[in-house]
This record gives sequence, C-alpha cells and structure tokens, in this order.
Amino acid sequence: MQDTQLSTTEHNIELEEKYGAHNYHPLPVVLDRGEGVYVWDVEGKKYFDFLSAYSAVNQGHCHPRIINALKSQAEKLTLTSRAFYNSRLGEYEEYITNYFGFDKVLPMNSGAEAVETAIKIARKWGYEKKGIAANEGVIIVASDNFHGRTTTIISFSNDADARANFGPYTPGFQSIAYNDMSALETALENKNVIAFLVEPIQGEAGVNTPADDYMRKVQALCNSKNVLFMADEIQTGIARTGSLLAVCGNCTCQGHCERQIASYATPDVLILGKALSGGAYPVSAVLANDAIMEVIKPGQHGSTFGGNPLAAAIAMEALEVVKDENLAQNARKLGKLFRAEMTKLIQETNMVKMVRGRGLLNAIIINDSPDSSTAWDICVALKDNGLLAKPTHGNIIRFAPPLVMTEVQLMECVQIIRTTILQFNK
Ligand SMILES: *Cc1c(COP(=O)(O)O)cnc(C)c1O
Repeated sequence: MQDTQLSTTEHNIELEEKYGAHNYHPLPVVLDRGEGVYVWDVEGKKYFDFLSAYSAVNQGHCHPRIINALKSQAEKLTLTSRAFYNSRLGEYEEYITNYFGFDKVLPMNSGAEAVETAIKIARKWGYEKKGIAANEGVIIVASDNFHGRTTTIISFSNDADARANFGPYTPGFQSIAYNDMSALETALENKNVIAFLVEPIQGEAGVNTPADDYMRKVQALCNSKNVLFMADEIQTGIARTGSLLAVCGNCTCQGHCERQIASYATPDVLILGKALSGGAYPVSAVLANDAIMEVIKPGQHGSTFGGNPLAAAIAMEALEVVKDENLAQNARKLGKLFRAEMTKLIQETNMVKMVRGRGLLNAIIINDSPDSSTAWDICVALKDNGLLAKPTHGNIIRFAPPLVMTEVQLMECVQIIRTTILQFNK
C-alpha cells in the first residue's frame, strides 16, 4: 500500500525487505534525488556519490543534456522493435562506430546481454571464419572476472556466491590467471581457442589493476594466434579510467584521442554498457569490424528493446557530453590527485594497506581480513559523514565518483574519507 505521507528511510527499507527478493545487501540509505556528483536521501541529507551506480553515472546524476534528449525523444517515439527501421538507430550506429573507431555496432540493453552477444559473435566467428570443429571452441577468461549474471556468464566466474547451485554450467570456457602473459601464451597453444575475454581493470574484483602494458601485449599475442581480443569495458570504458577506453592505458595522448584508440591497444570486440547512457536508461553495445560482425545474419540474434530510438538518442547525447566536458582528462587529473592523497593515508594510519586504480576508478585495501566487517563499518561511517561508497570483496573499498567532479569537491571528499578512516585507527 502506498501511503500519502513522506517516505521515511525505515519505511522504504521495510518495503524492499518485505516485497523484494533479497538479491542485494544495500547500505542503509534511501536515495530520492540526484544532481551531478550529489545524491539526496528521503530525509533530505546530501551525499557525495562515490559509486556512480558502478560507473554508469560517469556524466553525473540527471545530466540536463541527457535528460533533455530523453524527454524529447520519449515524447516522439520510444520503441518500434527491429521489425521496422527507426529514425534514430542508423544515426546512432554511425555516431558510435565513428566515436570508437569500429565498422559496426550491435545494440543491446544490459551489460550482461552485451557480453552474451560478444560470446555468440565470437563462437560463430570461430566456427565459420577460423574453421574450428563444431562445438570444440574455447573462450579464455581471467580468474576473478565479473562479466554479469546470466547462466552462461556465471559458468566462468570463480565467485562462489555467483555460481553455487546455479549449475549445470555452460561449457567452452577456460579460466587463466589475470595479468599473466605466460598463462595466456600457454592457453593459446590450444588451436581451438576462439577468443580471450578480459576486463582492462577488474572493477568488481576490487579495482585489480594490471601492468600498464598488459592490454598491448594481450592484443599482440591474440593477433599473432588469430584469437579474438574481447575487452569488457562496461565498467572501465567511457572516460572512467582517464582515457576514453581503459585499453588506451597510459598512452601519450593524455586522453585526447577520442577517435584514435589504435594508438594503444585495440580490441577486436569492444563491449560497452553502463555510462553509455549516463545512467539514464539501460543501453549496451558490442562493437567490431565487418570481418567479425558479418557472421551475424537476420534471425540469429536480437532483442526487442535493443537499438530502440529512445536508447539511441540518449546514448548519442551521453557520449557527446563525455567529449564536450573533457571527462577523460578530468578523470585523469583528479585520479592522480586522489591516489596521492590516499597514499598519504598509508603513512598516517595502519588501517589502509594499499591504494590502486587508474583515473577515477580507485580502491583502498583495508588492513583487515576480508571476512571482517571493517570495510563495511567504514562505509557506514562514510555515509554518516556524507559520502557513499560500497565495499567490494570484503576489505576493499572502491571509490568511483562521477567524472564531472571539480578539484575543490574532490578535496572536500578526501577530507571526509581521511577523517572517517582516522576514527577507525586500531
Ligand atoms: C556491470 C558489469 C557487467 C554487467 O552489466 P549489467 O548491466 O549489470 O548486466 C559486465 N561486465 C562488467 C565489467 C561490469 O562492470
């Protein structure tokens, strides 16, 4: 029952407890409004958002340009299905392929769907182009990966919670150590390998950041073995790590090469989601060149909502904002400052063991066992002090604010984090 009174935090939490499946364990805060780097709870308390909906809100909450694009398209046409053409999809496809430097795009909605799509494209390419015998194909993945929640995707996860009692699992995947070129070399000796699916930085695993040249070496090795290099940039992409894509790594363009990702590493298959809509709508995409994408023919893959005109309009505006507001450059600059400030904390307290990340995708490792509640307790205290972050893998806290943050705001956040963590000194 909807009551007419103003919602309270307890009331909203109770409703979710009672009527919703318990598939998440949220921090006890009920958000009601967002603008830029800020969110407000139902009691009117204001917070800095340091999760950005797992990097979906890179452009900031309710970005006025993205919301305007949403509103004007929503009033005109929202969904046609792909049984017919629509007046925004072609324009969007031209826009996004130019933006990222690929021949073609296959539009989907959620991130997991885009990963599934990439797997299907790769398998078909493996059998029809590479000539692997039917059903013998193998896709290599990295341990501690996070690629989504479908039955196939959790089949190659090594997270016990994600997998347990969801079997039988989809075959055809082999997991190797992350950031380990010799493990990949060994794996690619198998002639049945179709592709290597990898995150340029493992966000969910705790911002697990590989060697600077990992992606470039992966690309070179995959190319030499006729194996597809598939980058899942759903969390790392779209300016989050200080370049348009994280595969660009520390290339010398300083984040200016929006249309020339080839200057560092170029995946054969690029998977995007999350910030592709700036958080306004579920929009995901798989990008590849013709030689790969042409294996998909009518009737072989699709989605009722994929490529709808509302998604197309929102995604174009969301990508324009990234360019116009120089979000990659800002993430790069503020990220350096943030890591420098967090590194000082290692000297000041024994609570912080390590700081890692790139651009504005960073994490601190709390000096306590992953089974302890310390990181959770710190996040609850951060919330009380006006900053929202969430622990990942027990003792790791990820810090990923919207990329529209200013230096003054970032320094205010550093102060909140510093004061809060110093309260926890052992
Ligand atoms: C979030 C995420 C996904 C899954 O996206 P959904 O939209 O939640 O399905 C896949 N890969 C990575 C790296 C992600 O961060």
